[in-house]
Amino acid sequence: MLTLNVDGAAWRQHHHDLRDAVPGLVPVAKGNGYGFGLDGLAREAMALQAPTLAVGIGREVETVRLAGWTRDVVVLNPWRSFDDVATALLDDPGVITTVSRAGDIAALRRDHPGARIIVELDTSMHRHGLRTDELAGLDLGDLRLEGWAVHLPSTGSLTEATALALAALDAARAPLWVSHLSVDDYRTFRSQVPGQTRMRVGTRLWLGAPDALRTTATVLDVHPVRRGQRLGYHQHKVPRDGQIVVVSGGTAHGIALQAPASLRTLRQRAVTASEGLLSAAGRQLSPFTIGGRKRSFAEAPHMQASMLFVPAGVEVKVGDEVPVTCRMTTTTFDRVLIS
Ligand SMILES: *Cc1c(COP(=O)(O)O)cnc(C)c1O
Repeated sequence: MLTLNVDGAAWRQHHHDLRDAVPGLVPVAKGNGYGFGLDGLAREAMALQAPTLAVGIGREVETVRLAGWTRDVVVLNPWRSFDDVATALLDDPGVITTVSRAGDIAALRRDHPGARIIVELDTSMHRHGLRTDELAGLDLGDLRLEGWAVHLPSTGSLTEATALALAALDAARAPLWVSHLSVDDYRTFRSQVPGQTRMRVGTRLWLGAPDALRTTATVLDVHPVRRGQRLGYHQHKVPRDGQIVVVSGGTAHGIALQAPASLRTLRQRAVTASEGLLSAAGRQLSPFTIGGRKRSFAEAPHMQASMLFVPAGVEVKVGDEVPVTCRMTTTTFDRVLIS
């Protein structure tokens, strides 16, 4: 099994510390739930007594509610007319919809008066949002403006956030929802902006205490092999005597979606291109650590398991739990064990 082991006390202590340092914190639970799963995060956010939970897309609202979330939910991805799920949520009193285009505001004003909305502003991200020159003359009709949203790049700038906030407040008074400010910058932001503020936080909340998290894979099989012996789907030759170790964790879990950094030199990329990724994988370092070192893939990872080459003499046996490096936003774990 591919397992996310969580030191529950340390993990939750971090949640409490951040909540206390960030007044108006809005936990974000979206996608794969940062590795923990959306349902797990919904329960943590309930325990944190957060008044609002942010999800990425409309479909995720049902998931967090089924997990026990009962309070307001903000959908971060801006509404589009072709998204039926998001459209149905406009009439749900517990859901706040993000809107990012003047034309969409006009459509909602007409078709869903009374909907709770947050209007997103264009920032240096340039992903979604109204430009400040579109704010003058903005007619919200009977839409309920729950806030203005400012979604900054990861290197969020206090100056930009404050300027946008003040421009928005000129158009209408509403809470200011920001992302990606440092805790100190957010404090300053609050002191410079009249009214209420909120900060939406995912990564820094759920993954901000890395020492509380340990990812492991179960050893499923160990076979001695001889140099030159063929193995795997692609029948590559084993480079030297040693052992093949089969571990949990494959492409379905999101293991090794990227070539490891060690393969990124020009020469190596040329080798990869000429021989095909699968045979190059025989030399690729895997994210699995056995006997204190990362080990090579014997071939490209399979759907739910990976075959590794481990030199003879390294002690490893079926049932061992071995460390594996995972990118948390792309990994699907078989289980999350919170101690
Ligand atoms: C995903 C998202 C966040 C949270 O981002 P993290 O980097 O995980 O904290 C905040 N705001 C918006 C609009 C988002 O889409």
